[in-house]
Parts: sequence; C-alpha cells; structure tokens
Amino acid sequence: MGSQEVTTAADWQGMHITVAGLGVSGISAARALAGLGASVTVVDEGDSPAHRERAALLEQQGIGVRLGDAGTLPEGTGLVVTSPGWKPDSPLFLAAAEAGVDVVGDVEIAWRLRGHDGRRAAPWLAVTGTNGKTTTTRMLASILTAAGLRTAAVGNIGTPIVDVVLGTDEAYADLDVLAVELSSYQLHWAPSLRVHSAAVLNLAPDHLDWHGSMAAYAADKGRVYEGNRVACVYNAADGATEDLVRAADVEEGCRAVGFTLGTPGPSQLGVVDGILVDRAFVEDRHRQAQELAEVADVRPPAPHNIANALAAAALARAYGVPAKAVRDGLRAFSPDAHRIEHVAEVDGVAYVDDSKATNTHAAQASLAAYEPIVWIAGGLAKGATFDELVAASAGRLRGVVLFGADRALVREALTRHAPEVPVVDLDRTDTGTMSAAVREAARLARPGDTVLLAPACASMDMFTNYNQRGDLFAAAVRELGAAGA
Ligand code: ADP
Repeated sequence: MGSQEVTTAADWQGMHITVAGLGVSGISAARALAGLGASVTVVDEGDSPAHRERAALLEQQGIGVRLGDAGTLPEGTGLVVTSPGWKPDSPLFLAAAEAGVDVVGDVEIAWRLRGHDGRRAAPWLAVTGTNGKTTTTRMLASILTAAGLRTAAVGNIGTPIVDVVLGTDEAYADLDVLAVELSSYQLHWAPSLRVHSAAVLNLAPDHLDWHGSMAAYAADKGRVYEGNRVACVYNAADGATEDLVRAADVEEGCRAVGFTLGTPGPSQLGVVDGILVDRAFVEDRHRQAQELAEVADVRPPAPHNIANALAAAALARAYGVPAKAVRDGLRAFSPDAHRIEHVAEVDGVAYVDDSKATNTHAAQASLAAYEPIVWIAGGLAKGATFDELVAASAGRLRGVVLFGADRALVREALTRHAPEVPVVDLDRTDTGTMSAAVREAARLARPGDTVLLAPACASMDMFTNYNQRGDLFAAAVRELGAAGA
C-alpha cells in the first residue's frame, strides 16, 4: 500500500498487525484495525490481573493478545503499531527493523484511514512544540467552532485519533477540520503525515532520553512541516522553529508565517498597541493589517499565552477563518486546570497554580508573566539545570519556597544568580508539605505580589501527578483564606 494514499478496507483485510502496548491508544488502534478486517495481535510486557482483564475483552472481539513478552515479533507480522512512551530502541522495534517491517504510531494509522472508504477526509491543522501544545490546540478548536465549523481538538488529547478519524463515535462523524496536537513521539512514528498547515510553538530540550539528542528531538518536531500545503507557522522569537521550516520539503505555494509578540512584519501575526494583528492572511501584506482581537480577549493574558493565541489564530487564518471568529473563539476559550490558573486572592496576594509547568522552559514563561513573585518550586528535575531560568527571573522574585527531591539543584542556582532572594527550603515530603509551602509563601509575600506554583520539575517524587500537586496547592490556599477570614 502506498504510504500516502487513503486506504480502503481491502488494504487492511487479512494484514497481520502487531500492536505494542495494552494502553488506551493501543486498544483503540487494535479495535479499529480488527474492525477493518486485519488480523491483530497486541503484545505487552505486563501480565497483571488488570492486563488479563483487558486481554480477555479484546480476545472476545477476535483480537490476539500476548502478555509477558513484548520483545519478540509475532510470526508473519506485516506492520507494527507503537504506543506513546515506547522507546525507539525497544526490542520489538529492533526486531521489526531487522525483519524489514514498518513501525508506525496511532497518528500514522489515523492519517492513512482518513477519508477511508469514501468518507469525507477532514483537513488537519497541526500543533507541536515543547510547551503550549494543548492550550494552542484547544484555542484553535474554539476559533474554528466560532467560525461555524465542525471540529475537534484531538491527537495527544481527548479521544484517540483513530476513533475520531473513523467517526465511530457520532460526535466525530462528518467533521470539517481537525485541530491536532502532536507530540514529538507521535511525529517520530508518522512518516507519511502531510497536513494542511502546522505550527511549531517553541523548541527547548525535553524528552532527550527518548530521542537521544536535541538534534533528533528537533528533527522529529520538524516533521510536522513536511508536505504542508498552505502555511508553516513558526515562532519569530525562536530561531530553531524557523530553521525547521527552512529544512522542510513543502508543497508548492506553501508559506512561512511567523508569530511575534512585537509589531508584525509582512507574513507575520503580532501585537500592536494591545491588538492582535494579522499581516499574513490579508490581500496586500506589505500595506495591510487585519485586526483580530485584543490582548484582553486572551485568558490568561500572559506573554507566552498571547503567543499561543497568535499561533492558533495563524492556523485558523491559514484555513480561511474570518477575523471575527478569531476574536469570538478566543473569548469563548477557557484554559485547562493547572495552567496558570488564578486560584484566589488572600490578603491582597494573588495565588496562581501553574502545576503543569513541569520543565524549566514552561516555568520561565509563567515567571515572566508576574512581578513580584513568591515562587514555589521543586520536584524531579529530569536532568534539567536551573541556571538560565533563575538568572532570567531573579529580578522578579520576592522569595522562593522549595520542596521535592531535586530542590538542591534549584537552590544552588539561586545562590549563584539571586543570592539576595530569601529561600525557604522545606526538607520534608509528607502530605502536609504543600500546605506548609503555601503558608511560608504567604509569609514572604506582600500585598500586590503573586504566589506562583510553577515547579519547573515533574511531580512524581511527592505527588501522583501534576493535577494532584495543583489540587493540593489550591486546597492549601483555601485553607489560608479560611484561616484569615
Ligand atoms: P503542552 O501540551 O505542550 O504540555 P500546555 O498547553 O499543557 O502545553 O501548557 C503546559 C505548560 O507550559 C503551561 O502550564 C505553561 O506553564 C507553559 N506554557 C504554555 N504555553 C507556553 C509557551 N508558548 N511557551 C512556554 N511555556 C508555555
């Protein structure tokens, strides 16, 4: 089967497909492919009662499952479908490479299935980057909806993309256009993806253990631009994203469109006097500018989030959406929890939960949005260093409260770049730690300050995940408010 062509059921009939991993996306891919007549085997290393329960359900549907061995390739495999998180050097993939068998991800499957058997193939508008993907993708979906289009935010979020493309769920039948969030892993395994338009929001070191190097990570992100038809949207403040556009092989006539927080040049979207302005999708980009929305229409109006809004607007405009829908869509959008979420104001101090800032690049963006700040940080550093972040933010810090496994790394960076700033180091990991951190932060803060939870670290040393970390922060802030009332 030609990798770029839309497939028909006959292409999948009787094909032997091995699906890696019994997780949500693996199960969804297995069901979809079996439904098309392929002969599917799911393999998973695990063999717990939970695994067996899931396996039994799939077996009832005629899907083969092999538990306790994810390293060898089942006999006769013609295609391997990966799950997110499996490393490229997993034994199963090495065995596939040796046997000359293609390895692809759920996004590649969805791409090959779009327009399957005469269905309408909705174009894809894709978003990737180190930070801001989910927010931007959801902003884009909101703008497209405001334009009266049937759309969904999919990919790395929400319903598995294979199910959406197949329209198995009525909510996704007959969509006009998709807003697709793509992770670097998904892009790595989607060799034939060629979308309508795509944006790379930013590029900072992340997931390097998976990709092997920054160059490999960037190259996987850059795949999103390959074969773009209308626009490659890049971040004018992040040269690496523009380099990826230059390196991409795109369709004739596809344009490079930048977004900037400054005044936009021709072929850019930017900001002028508090107004989001489009100088790319106008008739005469050298003389004309189209007003899209006000900065105040974007929530929260933090600089990095204005950048997200501009990227979403650029993709929507590339798809031909009118300016008014950009404004209406941004106004209708509300951010997900734990992403610069204003929790409460207590004694004149604002408390903001950015628990989703799990790496230094994200934390730096939210620290740039407030001043003065009492910063709550720490957790698992995942190999990161904190010098750049602390040096860039030192002037805004009223004080810092640290907790978590790798807090010493943050503290050392503070000693080097912000020696005057008071630091409270919480040497505890019990369930009351977050409350203690919030109380310490309240003590350091003065009216007009912002207490910002932006840990710059992963949460798993002390919390179940970043959601729980943020929920405990909010609960501690409420406690504080009640105590003061
Ligand atoms: P992703 O889906 O890429 O993880 P999210 O939209 O969930 O991104 O945002 C994750 C965190 O990244 C936010 O809590 C915020 O701290 C930070 N962030 C969001 N947008 C940006 C951006 N454009 N640049 C830098 N950091 C950002």
